[in-house]
Amino acid sequence: MTYDLLIKDGRIIDGSGRPAFHGDVAVAEGKIVEVGRLDGAARRVIEADGRVVAPGFVDNHCHYDAQVLWDPLCTFSCYHGATTVIIGNCSLALAPVRAHGREKLAGMLSYVEAIPMDVLQAGVPWTWETFPEYMKAIGQRLGVNVGTLVGHSAVRLYAMGEECSERPATDGELALMRGVVREALEAGALGLSITRNMNHFDIAGKRIPAACAPESELFALADVLREVGTGVIQCGGGTNPELKDRLLSRLAQACGRQIMYNTLLEQARQPGRWRTHLAHVEETVRQGIRAVPLCNPGSIVNRFTMKNCQVFRSMPTWLPILQASDEEKMRAYRDPETRFSRDGTSRRSRRRRGRIRSTPSSIWRSTRSWRRSSASGKSIRTPTRSPRSSEVPTPSWGSRTGARTSSSTRTWATPPACSATG
Ligand SMILES: [Zn+2]
Repeated sequence: MTYDLLIKDGRIIDGSGRPAFHGDVAVAEGKIVEVGRLDGAARRVIEADGRVVAPGFVDNHCHYDAQVLWDPLCTFSCYHGATTVIIGNCSLALAPVRAHGREKLAGMLSYVEAIPMDVLQAGVPWTWETFPEYMKAIGQRLGVNVGTLVGHSAVRLYAMGEECSERPATDGELALMRGVVREALEAGALGLSITRNMNHFDIAGKRIPAACAPESELFALADVLREVGTGVIQCGGGTNPELKDRLLSRLAQACGRQIMYNTLLEQARQPGRWRTHLAHVEETVRQGIRAVPLCNPGSIVNRFTMKNCQVFRSMPTWLPILQASDEEKMRAYRDPETRFSRDGTSRRSRRRRGRIRSTPSSIWRSTRSWRRSSASGKSIRTPTRSPRSSEVPTPSWGSRTGARTSSSTRTWATPPACSATG
């Protein structure tokens, strides 16, 4: 036969797990029809010259939920050989959404994934409300395969509105959430994404809704996957609750579906912990439990500028600065009161109480532990505790309401009332 495409002399890695071998790959009518030493005619021949010929990679943890709407190739995953990307991870998604919740929902994706709000405002057309409508919207123009998870934070905002980071759901709200998850799965969602990452905040400084959900809600939503008989669960930040009381293992056992969670890694602050974690996973796998951590192929390094240093967002001194306009940030960085403010009290009042001796700027002091860990090139964690209202200082350098940022109007934080732990 005459092939449409013949790739000659490649180092073939076929994805089955067996070792690489040298050979040719023939394609006809969009399918691989032969692999081996081939010399048939072909309309097009590519000389691979020993380069790797492999199936496209699946980039299984991405946040292209917005970008896919204006960039159908999902760059730069495609440049790494990915032909499939999985979006909707870590509970973050752009559907379902009601019109009045759009900015709040986009703000979560913006803040957690460092995507500028003005980019989202310019590029997201919001032509959907439901998850199936969103899938239809992104399916109009795809350059790679895209799999979507339905994100718990979006679902919780949809069902509970502004109180989605404040309290447990009512029975009615939980029923609505279950219905939304079912609708998404039946429309083709790959599964559900949840999170136990307590360091993920929205623009206002509140924990994202999914991180505030009680365990009982996770089990109720996971049970929809059992009922429908399909889907996987992805969990952001699951290592702590898994090692503490096997949360993800229990969840996987309860619903019978596979769970992937973040992350098996080495950390400067917990050297060797990966060994304990890996031993734990080996034991649970032996028991037939399908809850496994993902691994990062590279080290995690935080880069930031003084315009956008989100890594400090759970620190009371920093939160209002991060929410301010660039001009107000500059004023704050210059302002002695702010520079010496550490826990919401002024320099003058702390001196009265004898708490200030010779003082470097506390803004910088509060970063010292960060610098120590970042110097080793490892990932860092901001404090897990969020500021209480009494700890969030009234800035002396800006107005407390209606602070204008470069991208959108942001209000000052109502500090988190979230009681979830993990
Ligand atoms: Zn993620």
